[in-house]
Amino acid sequence: MFRKRIVVVTLRGQFVYGFMIAVVLGMGIWMLQEPAIWTSLPFASLISGKKVVIDAGHGGSDPGAKSASGLLEKSINLDVALRLKKYLSRIGVYCVMTREGDRDFFNENIPSASSKARDLVYRAQVANQSGAEVFLSVHANSFPQAIYHGAQTFYNVHKPLSKKLAYAIQYYFVKELGPNKRRPKTGDFRVLNDTRMPGAMIEIGFLSNPGEAELLNNPQYRDRVAVAIYHGVIAYFTNQIPNF
Ligand SMILES: [Zn+2]
Repeated sequence: MFRKRIVVVTLRGQFVYGFMIAVVLGMGIWMLQEPAIWTSLPFASLISGKKVVIDAGHGGSDPGAKSASGLLEKSINLDVALRLKKYLSRIGVYCVMTREGDRDFFNENIPSASSKARDLVYRAQVANQSGAEVFLSVHANSFPQAIYHGAQTFYNVHKPLSKKLAYAIQYYFVKELGPNKRRPKTGDFRVLNDTRMPGAMIEIGFLSNPGEAELLNNPQYRDRVAVAIYHGVIAYFTNQIPNF
């Protein structure tokens, strides 16, 4: 009886040892793949438990802007929104998504003149009912002239904290994506006006610019866009808004 127990204990020891090696190796591979995320971990304890709303603009019957190559704004908005959710969730930020699939809210039972207005009112309602501290609306820009490019944030002029948020995200757009002369700007957007918490309209680039549309078509570039927004949100929550 005694000898049998020793064998069992030894086998368990080997299993635990092997399991620990597997965990350490797994962590190492994960850290090598996503180094950008780890640079902000010292701040994680300050923002863990916060709640944000991530609104992927457009969806379903509303494609939003379209590039000359056929790239749809609704698809890249959602992809960036889901990447952002992944990164913020890892440091304990609870993310409320207005949508996680290809859908619109045109048929929501909200008294409003147009289906597009119902869609926007619904998104603001989700945000206001969530109790979140921050609202992030992810969009891509478009303009008749193809030369315009660059990611840019917008905020409601009457909300000082929104300005802070927009500046933080814009700073990290430049840092993560390269030179960009665009400045955070005030904007009259329904979802920003209707939401009660600080918020930003985040235009991640111009689909009307062929070069930027090609970048936005690249999953690795979209990941960098999400990382930039992630760093901006951390800077906002930790009150470390860079001067630029
Ligand atoms: Zn849009």
